[in-house]
Amino acid sequence: MKVSTAPVYARVACEGKQRFSSAVLAHQVARQGNRRADRSYRAYRCVYCHGWHLGGGVFKTSAKGK
Ligand SMILES: [Zn+2]
Repeated sequence: MKVSTAPVYARVACEGKQRFSSAVLAHQVARQGNRRADRSYRAYRCVYCHGWHLGGGVFKTSAKGK
C-alpha cells in the first residue's frame, strides 16, 4: 500500500485558514489584526503544511469588568 498524501486530519486542520509562507508576513498580519480588534492573534507554524497560520482570536483581558 502506498500512501503519499497527507492524512485527512491534516487537511481539516488547515482548511479555511489563511496560510502564510513566511513567519514575518504572518506576524505582520497578526499585529494588524490585534490593532483592529480587541483580540489577540498569534502566528504559529503549522506542523501539517509547514506554513504559518493565525491562531488565537482570544479576547484580550481588558479593564472591562465581568
Ligand atoms: Zn496548515
